Amino acid sequence: MSANSRLYSIVVNKCPRCHQGDFFIKKSAFSKDFDKMHEHCPHCGENFMPEPGFYWASMFVSYGFYTLYSLLTFFIFVQWLQVDLDYYLIGLIPTLILLTPYFFRMARRTWLTLFIAPRPQMKA
Ligand SMILES: [Zn+2]
Repeated sequence: MSANSRLYSIVVNKCPRCHQGDFFIKKSAFSKDFDKMHEHCPHCGENFMPEPGFYWASMFVSYGFYTLYSLLTFFIFVQWLQVDLDYYLIGLIPTLILLTPYFFRMARRTWLTLFIAPRPQMKA
């Protein structure tokens, strides 16, 4: 994955404009205050809060991640590995709960990335 791609900034917690500044303050999605974001990119100064309520719609992106994850694991475990559907569902629910901070952060980065054109060469 290229360090200059939009996918890189979404997956690796980087600014969608310069791909260098951190998007969330904490590096790990599984730490306290996982939801605290920088208001501006620490590298290029890009505004991460374009307007009040901007990230409200990112919950639909998050829903998409949950759906994609559920479908993917369904086909792997139930269709391919022939795991019983009950055991699959018993295992699915805790993993969805555990992945909530990760999907939350990915959804916000994805949502902002849709509205910002990348300029990887941008300097502070
Ligand atoms: Zn930046």
